[in-house]
This record gives sequence, structure tokens and C-alpha cells, in this order.
Amino acid sequence: MKTSLNILFPDAFRADSPRPRILLVDDQMINILTLNEVFKEDCDVFMATNGEHALEQAASLLPDVILLDIVMDGMDGYTVCEKLKSNPLTSGIPVIFITAHFDEVDEVRGFELGAADFIHKPINAVITKARVSNQIALKRQTDLLHSIALIDGLTGIANRRQFNQAIQVHWQQANREKSDLSLIMIDVDYFKRYNDHYGHPEGDECLRRVAHAIKTSLQRPYDLVARYGGEEFACVLPKTAPDGAAFIASQIQTSVHGLAIPHAESGVSPHVTISMGVVTTIPGSVIDNTADLIEAADKQLYQAKKDGRARACFIELK
Ligand code: GH3
Ligand code: MG
Ligand code: MG
Repeated sequence: MKTSLNILFPDAFRADSPRPRILLVDDQMINILTLNEVFKEDCDVFMATNGEHALEQAASLLPDVILLDIVMDGMDGYTVCEKLKSNPLTSGIPVIFITAHFDEVDEVRGFELGAADFIHKPINAVITKARVSNQIALKRQTDLLHSIALIDGLTGIANRRQFNQAIQVHWQQANREKSDLSLIMIDVDYFKRYNDHYGHPEGDECLRRVAHAIKTSLQRPYDLVARYGGEEFACVLPKTAPDGAAFIASQIQTSVHGLAIPHAESGVSPHVTISMGVVTTIPGSVIDNTADLIEAADKQLYQAKKDGRARACFIELK
């Protein structure tokens, strides 16, 4: 029976993809145990017997799918679903309602609250597994599309879109906390000459290596490096004071220098170099939007180019 189920619904339960995580929510333990029997072979199964616990589990485990009983003591399934959908952390997790019998009014309400599907008791293992498998496959495709939309195709680091999102989020957070926010704009020196001399494919490889060197110079989980444009990169460093930003800039410089990529036409060095513009601010103190922050960093970058390249220029705006 198990083998035939896997042949029928192979996508979500493939051996080479991570085991799906399922959260079962029901105030009757017997129902949870029945569902557990269906999924325990192929999935990591988690359980909650009331709405509050379900919400906690969902936010901390971030399961691939939630199977949710509607009628429960205390918080009912509709309320749980509503709360899951209003929390950005859990809103993308598909919710499948488990109902005792088919009731059109119930189902309409469930779908209106954001449910992905319905399963009726008594549980039929094949149908239940098929519906859950479909939702997991859909969720994984959606997650993949989201990640592709935010990643730069050439270098594998964050793209401009992700940068735009991240800088807004970190700006708002720093504004609330009145904490330091630093931004480093980075530009490869004489890169047009590099392309002209070594060819475009070599230029691409150079950008990949520089991106990797920058990424490995960042230290905290919230630090972000993005490809900002052609041969330009940007680092967003939350809660980073001027001395910290200067330290990271010097790490980046050392790291790119360490690549020792030959650049015969550079004029400033036998190897590929970068210039950087670094700005640290507390939102609202001197500047009050991200466009001005980027412009300030760009100005410093321009200054670094003017001063001879292969260096960083800094400004503190607070
Ligand atoms: P500067 O030191 O003033 O920054 O000079 P530069 O030559 O680096 O600056 P410029 O803006 O004149 O040229 C940037 C070059 O980057 C031109 C463009 O062909 C190249 N470039 C942009 N994107 C890519 C890419 O994805 N791959 C490759 N190989 N080259 C790229
Ligand atoms: Mg440029
Ligand atoms: Mg350049």
C-alpha cells in the first residue's frame, strides 16, 4: 500500500527532497493518531490539540502544510486559519481543513478565510495523501519562484529587487529603534577595460568571484550583499556603527585583493580592485529616506573613484 502511494504521488515525497513537515491540529487525539498513521512514513509529523498551541507550533516550525480540524474546544479552526493568514510568517503555509461531513456553507467560509483544500472524515488514506501531496508540491514551487525572483542569475547573490526590499525593512527597523544603519556601495574599477581585454565570459567569472568574496566578508545573518547593477554591489549592514562599517569595508577590500585576479589594463593595480562608498546613519537624524541614503553612499563612491580608486570613502550622517 505504502509503495503504491509513493508511486501515485511522487513529487512531494521524493527521497532527494527534504522530508515534508506536517502539522496536525485536532482536539481529539484519536483523529491525530489516524492521520499520523497516514503520514509518519514519509513526513515529519507535528501535533497540536488546541488553537493556541497550533499557532505557536506553526510560527516556530514553519511546516509545509497544516491539517486543521474546524470544530475544536476553545479557539475553533476558522479562527486559527484567520490568525495564520494574518501573520506574514505563516500566511504562505497551506491550510487543509478536516471536516466531519460535507457542508457547502462551511467550505465556502473556509475558502474565504484562505484555506487551500478540504478533507472529509472518515479519513481515506489515498485521498488525504493526494490532497496533502498536491499542496506541498504547490508550496515548494511557489517558494522556489520567490527565491528565484530575488536572486541574481549571474552571481547567485541577492538581486536589486531583494536589495530594495531589504533596505526598506532595515530602514524602518532602524528608524523605530533609532539604531545605526550602514550601507556600502561597491564598484569594480576599470571593468570595461577588463571586459575589453579578457572578454565578456571572463568578465562574468570575475563578477562571480568578486560577489563571493564580498559575501564571505559579511559576518552577521542580517547583513546583505546584493548585485546592484552591472559591476556594482551594495551591502546593507543593520545595527552597524561607523567603525563596524569601516571594518567590514576593509575586510571586503582584503578579500577582493586576495583573489588576485589579473587586470593588465587597470592602471591602479596589476589585479582587479574595487572602490567603495560607505555611509552610516540613524534614520531621521540627517536624512529621512532610503533614496537619500543610497545617494550619500554613491557620492562617497564617486569620491573614492576620484581619489584614485582601490579605496573606500566614508561619511557619517547623524
Ligand atoms: P570605473 O572604474 O570608473 O568604475 O570604470 P568602469 O569601466 O568599471 O565603469 P563603466 O561604468 O564605464 O563600465 C562598466 C562595465 O561593466 C561596462 C559593462 O560592459 C560591464 N558589465 C556590466 N555588467 C556586466 C556583466 O554582467 N558581465 C560582464 N562581463 N560585464 C558587465
Ligand atoms: Mg559602474
Ligand atoms: Mg566600475
